[in-house]
Amino acid sequence: MNTERISGKTIKEWQKTLPLIRKIMAGQEVFWRNPEYRPVDTAFKSIALSYKDVADAQARLKRFAPFIAEIFPQTREGNGIIESLLREIHNMKKLLNLQVKVPVRGTLLLKCDNLLAVSGSIKARGGIYEVLKTAETLAVDKGLLGFGDDYAILATDKFKRFFSNYAIAVGSTGNLGLSIGIVGAALGFKVYVHMSADAALWKKQRLRQCGVTVVEYETDYSQAVAAGRQQARSDPNMHFIDDENSLDLLLGYAVAADRLKEQFDALGRVVDEKHPLFVYLPCGVGGGPGGITLGLKFVFGDHVHCFFAEPTASPCMLIGLMTGLHDKVSVQDFGLSNITDADGLAVGRPSGLVGKTLGSLISGSYSVADKTLYRLLHTMADQESIFLEPSAVAGLTGPTGLLNTPEGRGYLHRQGVIENMSDATHLVWATGGGMVPEPVMQAYYAKGAASSAYA
Ligand SMILES: *Cc1c(COP(=O)(O)O)cnc(C)c1O
Repeated sequence: MNTERISGKTIKEWQKTLPLIRKIMAGQEVFWRNPEYRPVDTAFKSIALSYKDVADAQARLKRFAPFIAEIFPQTREGNGIIESLLREIHNMKKLLNLQVKVPVRGTLLLKCDNLLAVSGSIKARGGIYEVLKTAETLAVDKGLLGFGDDYAILATDKFKRFFSNYAIAVGSTGNLGLSIGIVGAALGFKVYVHMSADAALWKKQRLRQCGVTVVEYETDYSQAVAAGRQQARSDPNMHFIDDENSLDLLLGYAVAADRLKEQFDALGRVVDEKHPLFVYLPCGVGGGPGGITLGLKFVFGDHVHCFFAEPTASPCMLIGLMTGLHDKVSVQDFGLSNITDADGLAVGRPSGLVGKTLGSLISGSYSVADKTLYRLLHTMADQESIFLEPSAVAGLTGPTGLLNTPEGRGYLHRQGVIENMSDATHLVWATGGGMVPEPVMQAYYAKGAASSAYA
């Protein structure tokens, strides 16, 4: 245990001002309401990004659609737009409700980012977007490409040769490296992925097959990022994709919101004062859930309520927001290990960008034990035939937690939506799993079976 002071206060003092800290330090699952949450009118006053920035990202992805369709045939059905389906998970809702006093009413939907084309995780949004933007900027600057061109030309050898003069680097727990590596290599870039110790072996192998240079570290994610940043600093032709600080990553994720609105419209699903939308987002460093929250707030305003989900061993965003210390604090400072099988979420220190600039848009945050993650993974497979990786099921305990904890219920009262819960939509973001090799998935499933399934 850390006996030093954290921002001038001892652990005991922190525990006194923030009672949840004791439970967090004991590795217990907690649900936290963010007292700094604000209505959009107030919150957006201090956010420098506007909806126009998201629209700009959306337009860029449209320009690239012919290129994406050209090099990734599995995206042709969607005309080169990488987007995931919504699925109602009724069986899962029934089972989750068996465990609690206050049942979840309304509709429980799953956002199937595990099936996103190209990389099978939420990183196909932000990660791929930033690579494409980097490529576009280089090609336009050198006069090789105009915004009105058919971007399918980027798949030609001429462009591959051009991009081979440039490099892209990233630090990753796995999935971000995978997304960036696959697209970066397809464009012709030299790609360096700095992988933390928790990254799965199959992700490293897959990247090496694509011709990506994988640099391995014995340490955790924050160190892998620092090493990547350092490498890029010394090379003017290397672009570093900064998972902790990148606005482009955020905007790539934010595009999900408009597309979700279109999907809701097509289904006749309404989101308004009487029909609140609750979204549960697994959180690692915070870029994915932060960017999606930003987009959702532009589109649905105060009628959407976004909650972040983290492992009990790595609740970095929760601790960062709760203490107000953001990237100045790590889970290790509070005696936690940051060791979890939820490798996409194994992050000890949160993004300062997300916590500081978007914190007032986040309704709350909660934690989930690895054992629960395995149990959920197993149940999702049995009940819904949906196979997710451990990180990707963390959203599933959000709806019951919201309705069955004092903090969650306190939130619903304060927001004046407790009476509207029968007409609510609960959207659980399934963030990955689509590329997990069969034997690895079988091992996850077996582990879930061993940790006493729900039914
Ligand atoms: C990366 C990742 C997340 C979280 O995204 P961050 O941007 O790190 O917060 C969630 N789930 C999976 C499967 C991921 O790979």
